[in-house]
Amino acid sequence: MSELLRELREIIAQEGPISLDRYMSLALSHPRYGYYATRDPFGATGDFITAPEISQMFGELIGLWAAEVWRLAGGPRPMRLIELGPGRGTLMADALRALHSVHAFADAIEVHLVETSPRLIEAQRTKLASFDTPMHWHARIEELPRGAAIIVANEFFDALPVQHFVRTAEGWYERRVAVDADGKLTFGLSQQATRANGLSVPEGSLVEIGSIAREMMRELAKKIGSEGGALLVIDYGYTQTQTGETLQGVRNHGFVDPLHAPGECDLTAHVDFAALAREAEAAGARVHGPVTQAQFLSALGIAERAQMLKRNARPAQAEAIDAALKRLIDRSRPASMGQLFKAMAVTPKNMHALPGFAS
Ligand code: SAH
Repeated sequence: MSELLRELREIIAQEGPISLDRYMSLALSHPRYGYYATRDPFGATGDFITAPEISQMFGELIGLWAAEVWRLAGGPRPMRLIELGPGRGTLMADALRALHSVHAFADAIEVHLVETSPRLIEAQRTKLASFDTPMHWHARIEELPRGAAIIVANEFFDALPVQHFVRTAEGWYERRVAVDADGKLTFGLSQQATRANGLSVPEGSLVEIGSIAREMMRELAKKIGSEGGALLVIDYGYTQTQTGETLQGVRNHGFVDPLHAPGECDLTAHVDFAALAREAEAAGARVHGPVTQAQFLSALGIAERAQMLKRNARPAQAEAIDAALKRLIDRSRPASMGQLFKAMAVTPKNMHALPGFAS
């Protein structure tokens, strides 16, 4: 039995069944046994692969996007370039390399990375060691400095814990994680009804709520709205609030039961972009998109970038570039990256157009 499962059983024995968001946050971020604390989940040998790990083009285009946003914002100095959940640091490394060609922007930036996993912070430090841009690490967004900022979050919001609520004949109940007679983790419902949440959905419906994501969006949108800059969120998710659950466990590039091996598989939920957009607007900011990842990357010129890279490539490399391009912007199925992933940006009210988002 894993150490984390042992600890979860103890907590549940003492306190009773726990909420899903508490379970997720222990499984992902427990300082000793959590998923992100104990392993490097990315790449072919890991559990999943993210866009920056598929191709350098992804981070490069985001670096150039940031340079253009900085210009549109009037070129403030300093400009903080912030990444939330930078993983291996690949996106930031590719972005910094590309934006180096825009000298005035390269001179103006200060990099801030928000990361909780000590292990991934180490990987990021190594990956970014060769850049002479000032760099700072923070455990929480509350620690970020004030002032104009361009904030990038790729596959960050999907990793934030969610809660599930079920509509029964007697009212709303919160879904909890309990221990069954065999000692296995299992889902149950809260004993007490929770506050009604104002949604009118049929009996039996389950709704998934990302309160932590919403709160974070509210804080970030307030910051961007009053201090200037832009926030770019890229993630898999949906654009109309819906019922039903999207919680998933991911291991070895496949789906697993989210309760089966806590700490040993990634746990994520699809991002409710509509809910995040409502938070940002309520905080007084302007929302751009969401558009599909395919639309966003195509508008930034990913096809042209691929052509350029292919000019100096050997045949095998050229094939790899084409395959990566196809993977990032493929829209042939609903689950294809170019379709399932969305890009959404948040800016101050007075910024009317933004590269990548047709106005
Ligand atoms: N952006 C990277 C990694 C995505 S995985 C990429 O595209 O490859 C999610 C990342 O968010 C990991 O680096 C994880 O450690 C970090 N993370 C998860 N929850 C976090 C939290 N609450 N605060 C800060 N970082 C978090």
